[in-house]
Amino acid sequence: MLLMNAKDERTGCDTKVAVPIAISRSHVHLTAAVIEELFCDRYSLHKAAPASQPSQYITMEKVTLVGPTGRRILGVPIIGPPRAVNQIELSLTDAQSLEIRAPVRESGDLVGTPGIVVVGPRTQVKLGTGVICAQRHVHLTPADARRLALSDRDRTEVSTTGTRRGIVFKDVLVRVSPEYQLELHLDLDEANAAGLKRGDSAWLERRVGVSRPDVDC
Ligand SMILES: [Zn+2]
Repeated sequence: MLLMNAKDERTGCDTKVAVPIAISRSHVHLTAAVIEELFCDRYSLHKAAPASQPSQYITMEKVTLVGPTGRRILGVPIIGPPRAVNQIELSLTDAQSLEIRAPVRESGDLVGTPGIVVVGPRTQVKLGTGVICAQRHVHLTPADARRLALSDRDRTEVSTTGTRRGIVFKDVLVRVSPEYQLELHLDLDEANAAGLKRGDSAWLERRVGVSRPDVDC
């Protein structure tokens, strides 16, 4: 459901901001070295579509993931560009079907995470670490953050409506950067639990009781 911002009539500030939702299926971020091993030497990924945040893209390349008991998931997309570190982002449903324990972590926090086998057309690579279930998070520009009185690494709540399965998502990690665009990132399990689909939006509430000189609206 597409929502509109709500304003405080007295101050003119937004009290609730409608945030577009991006829904991720399970996917992988791989290093250039692993991509070369899996595909071929000096291999370049092929862009299929832009991903939700600028500079990220869904590629035409897909891999198979094999869990510790041999169960596998086929056709898992690689998100480009190549990264410095391999990171496998699974929904908890997919992690269960692979019989792998994926901890809920924010991107890049990979210490102690389980590994997995990634299979490409040329060979397979066993990664020692890197499997996570991504912490739900919202991307904000610095201007969005100011009007919502939020700061980078805050935790906030986002509510959904209009689907007859409304949910308040707690523990939503706030990430702020001029490189971002306003967007809530959920995985497919989270979106399905709330009956959300692509193009829907959710409410992000302005943090109350915050008085900071850099807060405007
Ligand atoms: Zn994100």
